[in-house]
Amino acid sequence: MRTLFFFVFILITSSLSAQDWKTYFESSGGLKTPGYDETIAYCYKLSEASPLASIKNIGFSPQGREIPMMIIDRDGLTDPQSIRAKGRIIVLVEACIHPGEPDGKDAMLMLLRDLLIDKIQKDLLENVSILFIPIFNVDGHERFGQYNRINQNGPEEMGWRTNSQNLNLNRDFLKADTPEMQQWLKMFNNWLPDFFIDTHTTDGADYQYALTYGIETFGTLDSGLTRWLNNIYEPRVSSKMKESGFPIFPYVMFRKWHDPRSGLRTGASPPMLSQGYAAFQNRPALLIETHMLKDYKTRVEATRKMIEHTLSILNHQAATLKTLINMADVSTAAPGFRSQKYPVLIKSSTKDSTMVQFEGFDYKAVKSDLTGGDWFIYDNTKPVTMTLPFFNKTYAAVETLLPAAYIIPAEWSLIAERLRMHGIKISRLTEATEVVVKSYKFRDFDFRKTSYEGRQMVTTAYDEIEETRKFMKGSYVISMEQRTARVIAAALEPASPGSFVEWGFFNQVFEQKEYSESYVMESMAREMLVKDPELKKEFEMKMSSDKNFSTDQEKILNWFYSKTPYWDNRLAIYPIGKIYDNASLSGLRKISVAVD
Ligand SMILES: [Zn+2]
Repeated sequence: MRTLFFFVFILITSSLSAQDWKTYFESSGGLKTPGYDETIAYCYKLSEASPLASIKNIGFSPQGREIPMMIIDRDGLTDPQSIRAKGRIIVLVEACIHPGEPDGKDAMLMLLRDLLIDKIQKDLLENVSILFIPIFNVDGHERFGQYNRINQNGPEEMGWRTNSQNLNLNRDFLKADTPEMQQWLKMFNNWLPDFFIDTHTTDGADYQYALTYGIETFGTLDSGLTRWLNNIYEPRVSSKMKESGFPIFPYVMFRKWHDPRSGLRTGASPPMLSQGYAAFQNRPALLIETHMLKDYKTRVEATRKMIEHTLSILNHQAATLKTLINMADVSTAAPGFRSQKYPVLIKSSTKDSTMVQFEGFDYKAVKSDLTGGDWFIYDNTKPVTMTLPFFNKTYAAVETLLPAAYIIPAEWSLIAERLRMHGIKISRLTEATEVVVKSYKFRDFDFRKTSYEGRQMVTTAYDEIEETRKFMKGSYVISMEQRTARVIAAALEPASPGSFVEWGFFNQVFEQKEYSESYVMESMAREMLVKDPELKKEFEMKMSSDKNFSTDQEKILNWFYSKTPYWDNRLAIYPIGKIYDNASLSGLRKISVAVD
């Protein structure tokens, strides 16, 4: 009797507890995602119930919300040093950088519950400790509603793409304009996760795959880590996902938008994006993009499987990955890294492709009688295997020899501050000095007409220059002998996609500040032509060859102004200098102190 009573008691409490631990998503039958309060409360409930889990706050959003991060370690350790001392690697999983795409949040809450409470799949924590950010964009998440994602099939309500300042956090990794990203970078550089998973839902054409993925294998990531992604991680995760009933394909664009038969293309991601940024930090990363038209439950399940399989592979590969990352960090800081040309701009080939099988849906393009444009009509009852050209080869479109150091004038402290956020070590001059630097003179620059992420971006060509410049006390010296050398080049080489120049950090450098009065210049120009026959020849040539010029008085007179000694010789000159000479760098070291 007593045994029976005990048995019934156990049955009741265990069923109650299973009920208790159901996630909001599960209780809704896979139709809904929880709001911020429910999500964070569940994370705290997990961490209170399990000695393996704890929570740290990354920081605060512009609207004052906390951005919590869970730390899950088999011994309940809570800092990177103690975890690494145990030989484990650290994996960061992030959800809701785009809160309209919350799949990763619901997938991880279930996975962590199974790990921590039901103690299933505990081997996933054997050699790996997990950092989990359930909601990175917390303010955007609370702009909750039914109408935030017009193309997407669930959940019933969801958050908004951008933060409360209407900025997209997944364009902000390198420029770091938002408070959220500035605090994220602090966390990232403290933990330096060995692998980073960022979870999304994609828009675009319709096809069979519930999940596509992005990994950086196009030349931005260290070659050892790239080979590991290509030869170990990718084939393994791909076959495990297929076994789980979720065949996957690389995250691709179509050569013609919405038209898979036009061919597939992919390429290097710039450091403004999550997985792109991690590569510049010598860390492999995985971008998960579930497909918008698959129902929410399917997408969450696919995301969960992809994370589970990735964690499983990482557990087996922990020692190898650790060694490769260490080698990448050491070789990036070594002089050899700068002894050959560095690919500043990597482009995708438009000619070189391989044929691949793509699991699509049959579709037709009809001429729209409403808009006159192409209307792609997909028939998701007709799956078809297409054999398509995949343009996945890349080449270095701009290369440069990286310097021994960059030097930033004292007055450009904003640039130095942003660089420090990336874990870049900087020192400052304790006295003014003259240095021979290489730098750039910009030409043919063009400003984007519409604002992008609150900035006016600029594209520019340039010529390399070499000159002696005076740098004032307090100027910043950034040695390339550090593991973050790729991040430094990404920010400071103007041709790098999403460089600080391109983002508009230096826009005032392109502005002419003094002008000649036309009646002054009209007479001065005449005198110049009489005095200088070479100038006269040049002028006549320009007048006969350039109609935009020859019909514009202002341009003509400004041209003459540019030939006078009054012209601003610092116009369109890059303020950042590059130091190649080791002797002058060691000279600078003697008159500089590290910034901590
Ligand atoms: Zn997204």
